[in-house]
Amino acid sequence: MNKKGHVLNAILLAIGLGYVLQPTGDVETFVTIAELFVPLVLGALFPDVDTAFGKHRKTLHNLPVLAVFLAYPIYFGNLRFVWIGVLTHYVLDVVGSKRGIALFYPLTKTEYGLPVGVTTSSKYADAFTVAITLGELAVLAAVQFFVVDLNTGAPREAVAALIAGLPI
Ligand SMILES: [Zn+2]
Repeated sequence: MNKKGHVLNAILLAIGLGYVLQPTGDVETFVTIAELFVPLVLGALFPDVDTAFGKHRKTLHNLPVLAVFLAYPIYFGNLRFVWIGVLTHYVLDVVGSKRGIALFYPLTKTEYGLPVGVTTSSKYADAFTVAITLGELAVLAAVQFFVVDLNTGAPREAVAALIAGLPI
């Protein structure tokens, strides 16, 4: 996907996720959208820095890079939500375009993608991006309500019970 597609995806995701995290539909919702907006757009733009440094769709399009962005809010208390921007970039590249990404780089250069994508120059690229974003929002809403509170990182009751029941 090209930069326009990634920015469109991040903006729509920030708006939708704002309503998922703060469903009241009042000023708090708009504050949440504002809070998400810049981290998501920055995260969504970051992986394609590897068009200039390293190998495109490999160097900054893999799970270790995502892990680094996930670790920042946990260990340093900053860059909150940027990982969602990076993750949505991966999803859009894997699902929305013809070419995949090297998720396990540098272990393997193999690029993984789904055969459903359109070329980045296709006239359907924007519609496809919007459809993928809606799918992502459904998944994020399910995570928010059933798995973990994305605001606090606290697991939901059923997940907490499951973790407590693990034989470790
Ligand atoms: Zn990319």
